[in-house]
Amino acid sequence: MDNKKYDYLIVGAGLFGAVFAHEATKAGHKVLVIDKRHHTGGNIYCENIEGINVHKYGAHIFHTSNKEVWDYVNQFVDFNHYVNSPVARYRGKLYNLPFNMNTFYQLWGVTTPSEAQAKIEEQRAPYKDIEPKNLEEQALFLGGKDLYETLIKGYTEKQWGRPATQIPSFIIKRLPFRFTFDNNYFNDLYQGIPIGGYNALTDALLEGIEVQTGVNYFEDKDIYDALAQRVLYTGKIDEFFEFQLGKLEYRSLHFETEVLDEENYQGNAVVNYTERDVPYTRILEHKHFEFGTQEKTVVTKEYPHEFSKDNEPYYPINDDVNNSLLAQYKELANKPENKEKYLFGGRLADYKYYDMDDTIEAALTLCKQELK
Ligand SMILES: Cc1cc2nc3c(=O)[nH]c(=O)nc-3n(C[C@H](O)[C@H](O)[C@H](O)COP(=O)(O)OP(=O)(O)OC[C@H]3O[C@@H](n4cnc5c(N)ncnc54)[C@H](O)[C@@H]3O)c2cc1C
Repeated sequence: MDNKKYDYLIVGAGLFGAVFAHEATKAGHKVLVIDKRHHTGGNIYCENIEGINVHKYGAHIFHTSNKEVWDYVNQFVDFNHYVNSPVARYRGKLYNLPFNMNTFYQLWGVTTPSEAQAKIEEQRAPYKDIEPKNLEEQALFLGGKDLYETLIKGYTEKQWGRPATQIPSFIIKRLPFRFTFDNNYFNDLYQGIPIGGYNALTDALLEGIEVQTGVNYFEDKDIYDALAQRVLYTGKIDEFFEFQLGKLEYRSLHFETEVLDEENYQGNAVVNYTERDVPYTRILEHKHFEFGTQEKTVVTKEYPHEFSKDNEPYYPINDDVNNSLLAQYKELANKPENKEKYLFGGRLADYKYYDMDDTIEAALTLCKQELK
């Protein structure tokens, strides 16, 4: 083996790269982390505006039922008691999410679970014999007209940028109904926001590790590769192979953030706008993730957007066409000449929507295999 300066070059200082960097360093390896952005943390990065941690790449709520992952992150930071309870707004009225007894009361005035169940059955009755061919039919089949029109149709059409009749039905497999007055969006055992914000988690993971930000691996790939024995790449897999087989598709988002000279704008961290005519899908009020009491507030409007080279790849489109392209890229990645030098991981290299706990779990699995 030739003498390299580093054992590992880690491309990407997001959660996946940071966990791997931490574990590799702990195992006695010398690592260099690089990121093309001007900060670490990848998509969990927060920008401090008016003393408020602003989730720059969309609302991030940590939730998991994986005790190993929960214990892992709690070594680095404590978590607050934030519970995600988004509210939906439709034509000036508010509805609790996920669909629960509060929502059914707001929609129909029903006050008991049996009344709610009977109402849902009545709503579904006109559609019970259809074989859903698209998302609209699927949602009507599962929940009936009122829920669909008030809380599903407009929001989903904005997310996908097309009418619900042109969105595949598999997007909604089932509608989770809760016949209790429980507005907790997640069913997980553990949930919260790191005290001090997500950057505290990233900083703790990367403490004492050499990091270069604002550098694009592909601008000097050969030079970077020559620095390290092995390379962990957490960027887009199609880009790694110079898009030689074609481009993987994503949905993107566009954010508009503003500081408001008032203490409390909407009383909740997340409000979904389910009307088709309102162009954004959500307004985030960041201080409420951390129970902030600052004089001002910062809000972000979230607009779904086509993905292009000028914006961020947020949500992979895991349909058959893209998944089969992914399989071909994975074959390339698994060729002996690539496997010898490169490791791939994280949401962009795996082309998979990973929640943060999935990302950490996947990174720890790779660590166990690689850092024996
Ligand atoms: C809008 C949105 C909301 C989300 N909300 C939640 C939530 O509420 N709860 C939850 O658990 N999860 C949530 N997630 C998922 C969470 O963001 C991911 O699990 C996590 O950030 C993935 O980390 P990663 O390291 O794989 O990827 P990333 O964070 O994307 O990190 C990859 C890094 O690689 C860098 N990079 C790429 N190419 C290069 C290159 N050529 N040179 C140098 N650097 C490069 C990028 O700049 C980036 O910083 C959300 C995701 C999105 C998109």
